[in-house]
Amino acid sequence: MRGAVMFAPGDVRLAEREEPRLLERTDAIVRLSASCICGSDLWPYRGAESLSWPAPMGHEYVGIVEEVGDAVTTIRPGQFVVGSFFASDNTCEICRAGYQSSCIRRAPVGAEGAQAELLRVPLADGTLVATPDLPADDLVPSLLAASDVLGTGWFGAVAADVRPGNTVVVVGDGAVGLLAVLAADRLGAERIIIMSRHESRQRLAREYGATDIVEERGDDGVARIKDLTDGLGAHSVIEAVGTQESMMQAIRSTRPGGHVGYVGVAHDVRVPGDELFFSHVHLHGGPAPVRRFLPELIELIWNRQIDPGKVFDLELPLDEVAEGYEAMDHRRAIKVLLRP
Ligand SMILES: [Zn+2]
Repeated sequence: MRGAVMFAPGDVRLAEREEPRLLERTDAIVRLSASCICGSDLWPYRGAESLSWPAPMGHEYVGIVEEVGDAVTTIRPGQFVVGSFFASDNTCEICRAGYQSSCIRRAPVGAEGAQAELLRVPLADGTLVATPDLPADDLVPSLLAASDVLGTGWFGAVAADVRPGNTVVVVGDGAVGLLAVLAADRLGAERIIIMSRHESRQRLAREYGATDIVEERGDDGVARIKDLTDGLGAHSVIEAVGTQESMMQAIRSTRPGGHVGYVGVAHDVRVPGDELFFSHVHLHGGPAPVRRFLPELIELIWNRQIDPGKVFDLELPLDEVAEGYEAMDHRRAIKVLLRP
């Protein structure tokens, strides 16, 4: 089958890969309807993170179940399914507490490479959620968004304790940041300030419910947030970048007693303990337990109450995956959808 492989930083190509097959009795094989390129795929692409090359790429996926192992009981061939980037049993104590991305049996789906025609999904019953029926084609991008960026933005908002009446700041205007705006809006935030310098992204943020835009960064950005919040800082801040600058910007934009939900994959972030001590800020985040939110998110999408698929502003056939990485790397596209 065909699948995207990264051979070295900057070098992603479509290659002939071995067709996945059932390895465990709890596996499913999914024929992918769509996949996409993640902001986190850009870290190795830019050489900021090392993989064991050549690496199959992609961890966001929706598709139709082709085959299941004989221990799979709830997922059936023919179903349209959405899954998250960590496979989970959804039954262990950690899963039941809502932290499926730290499941004691978790397996990274990304290692299987979802930018491809077929995907093996471990722990199918615990990982995959089936839609009520086969979706209309225009729902596919939104369902795909639920697989990671929507679920991650949503977790960021929940981790930041967004609640009705809150003032929320979102640091980062990638797909996760934009969908954190959508999540904050759905969770009842009164004021949503996004830190963004890109006009097209600002526009989408406003569509998703942002009330204010702050273009400044670093200390200037923090000062602007303080200006907008009576000098106090926001109740809830969602960090959706993963750099030292963005993390400190998030912590410093939060009022004492407020919450930071950090969902940008941290790269060389060091939080100074003394500053954290005196900030009185709650910090919570990590790899989003997307599975916790999938049933609710799928229902909102199915009933057309939210449209997270708008973050895909470029759609390409899988054959043009190299072009997709380049477009995201150069920020010509917010997020690229790939059709096998
Ligand atoms: Zn578990």
